[in-house]
This record gives sequence, C-alpha cells and structure tokens, in this order.
Amino acid sequence: MSNDIEKVAVLGAGTMGHGIAQVSAAAGYQVAMRDIDDAALEKGLAGIGKSLDKLVSKGRLEQDAADAIRGRITTTTSLEGAIEGADVIVEAIPEKMSLKVETFQALGKHGKADALLATNTSSLSVTEIAAASGAPERVVGLHFFNPVPIMKLLEIVRGLGTSDATIERARAYGDAIGKESVVVNDWPGFATSRLGIILGCEAIRMVEQGVASPADIDKAMKLGYRHPMGPLELTDLVGLDVRLHIMEHLFAELGEQFRPPALLRQMVRAGKLGRKAGEGFYEY
Ligand code: NAD
Repeated sequence: MSNDIEKVAVLGAGTMGHGIAQVSAAAGYQVAMRDIDDAALEKGLAGIGKSLDKLVSKGRLEQDAADAIRGRITTTTSLEGAIEGADVIVEAIPEKMSLKVETFQALGKHGKADALLATNTSSLSVTEIAAASGAPERVVGLHFFNPVPIMKLLEIVRGLGTSDATIERARAYGDAIGKESVVVNDWPGFATSRLGIILGCEAIRMVEQGVASPADIDKAMKLGYRHPMGPLELTDLVGLDVRLHIMEHLFAELGEQFRPPALLRQMVRAGKLGRKAGEGFYEY
C-alpha cells in the first residue's frame, strides 16, 4: 500500500457498494461494508464471491489471493462499527439528498477526525453533502462506474470546500485500487453524466425527428466515432426512466439543452424502459 490508508468503510452494499468493497479489499485494505439490510449484505457478499470466482476461472487471479480478498471484508449493520478507525469512508447509499445529509452528519460526528469522506453520488451536489458533515475540506465525490471492478474510470469531484490535500488522498486511493482518475469541479452532471446525457438526449431527438433509425444512429457513432456502444443502446441498458430522471435534474440546473425529449417521456409512460422491461429503443 502506497499511502496512509489501512481501513476502508463502505456504506451501502448494493450495485456500487459491493464493487467498491471488492476493489478496496483487492488493494490490500481492511474493509467494513455496512448496509441497513442484512439481506443486502448477503447479496453484496455473494456478488463479490461471484466476481472473484470469475476472475479465478479466467486465470486472472489466484485462488489464494481471492480467498485473502474475501477474508479482508467484514459486514455489519452498525454505522459506528463500520466507520470506527476507518481512514476512508465511501458512501454508496440511495441517491436521495436527505439520506446523504443524515449520513454525512453522522460521519462528521462519529468518524475518525482525519478520515477521507467520499460520496459516490452520480448527480447530487457534493458541496451540499459536504456541508452536512461539518468538515467540508475532507469531503470529496468519488464517482465510480458500474461494474466497479471492471470500469477503469474514477471521477473525483471537488466540492467548493474540498482541500487540495483531500484531492491528493483521493487520487492516491484511486491509484491504489487500480483506477484512472480525473478531477472535476462540483457542477451538475460533473463531466461524465453531462456529456453522456447530452449525447443520449440528442440521439432521442433525432429519432423523434425521423433523422435515422435507432440502429443507424448507434451504428454511426460506433463506426464513425469508435464508441463501444451507441447512445440509444446505452440508454436501453441504463434504463429510460433513469436517464429521464437525470435529464430532468440537468434541465432544471443547466437549462434548455437538457430538456427531455417528448418521445422519451412517452416511452417511459408506456413502460418501454429498456433492457430491464424487454423493450426500449430495441426489443430484447
Ligand atoms: P442500490 O440501491 O443498488 O444500493 C443501495 C444500498 O444502500 C441498498 O442495499 C440499501 O439497502 C442501502 N442503504 C439504504 N440506506 C442506507 C444507509 N443509511 N446506510 C447504509 N446502506 C443503506 O444503489 P446503487 O446503484 O449502488 O447506488 C448507490 C449510489 O451510487 C447512488 O448515489 C447512485 O446514484 C450512485 N451511482 C450508481 C451507479 C449505478 O450504475 N448503479 C453508478 C454511479 C453512481
């Protein structure tokens, strides 16, 4: 380990939390994963087990190393137990400001005095979450991508009060867990969601205007711009409802260019939510 971190606490064992716990344990840190729900902790651990088994079966990880990673992760429903002695605390609970505020108030009060406090929010204001902690200089956005063990990027978000030292610690943690990081200032949509959403938004407007079929729009971006997935395929994967929700937020914060297309609203109303519903811009 190349820095002063020994223990990492991860709050939330869902889609993102269990992945963050896994990559932290793989970097050699002791990890406490906390959820309010025992079943979520079990499911999170099972997800980690499955991911490690896959790496072993592909020959990318030795069985002993996989066992050691699993051995470094403990689970608990106690917030104070999880964060006790933690040098880095990463919050990955649901995307609701009131929940984040409540959690960061507790972290400011009960966390180690010099702990790095991170939120994995994908759209909320890091500055507002930081203010709740009473120690905004130690709070940073660590925006991971799904699935966490696979996706290389870590978007580090600097809140208004985040100190340079905190950004450096966040970078060191990102390096240690094998991520490539970028640092962006806290602004709605950060860098990734803002650009990703505008592309999806425009692609839907083009379908609406009859410019081209979804398949041809996606093909154009894949072959012409080397995107691994087209913007409409990606919208189907993420969920049309999820993308609409983010667009509404960015429309309110940043204005007209993010106005959700009427076609998107109609499709959400019709239950055509993408892959998870069996139909979106494509049928599954
Ligand atoms: P999820 O619903 O899969 O998991 C959230 C977990 O948090 C659940 O297991 C829930 O029981 C638990 N929880 C609720 N309240 C809690 C509390 N007070 N303390 C501890 N655990 C609590 O959600 P997710 O998709 O993992 O998203 C988590 C965060 O990560 C959100 O802020 C989201 O915006 C962000 N994010 C998600 C993605 C994604 O692709 N899913 C990508 C980037 C960022």
